[in-house]
Amino acid sequence: MGLMRLLFFAVIGYVIYKVAQGFLKSRKSEETPLPPKGEETRRDPVCGVYVSEEDAVIGRVEGERIYFCSMECLEKYRDQLEQKEAAAKSINQ
Ligand SMILES: [Zn+2]
Repeated sequence: MGLMRLLFFAVIGYVIYKVAQGFLKSRKSEETPLPPKGEETRRDPVCGVYVSEEDAVIGRVEGERIYFCSMECLEKYRDQLEQKEAAAKSINQ
């Protein structure tokens, strides 16, 4: 039974991936047929990779927009921020 469940989730995951991919592609071609290069690249503060604003995962941290290459980096950044805040609080008390 375990294998069947695994297969089921694999198929569901694949379908979601394909739908998301198609959605992103159609959106991109509608909005920006010729994306300008240069100004739109942002640096991921976690891993240091450069990402375009279109492809970036945008995180809002303290009212600021920060661009990440992936959700993983966004989550890492938030974790780091929380740890810093916790450390700062423990020092102040
Ligand atoms: Zn990253």
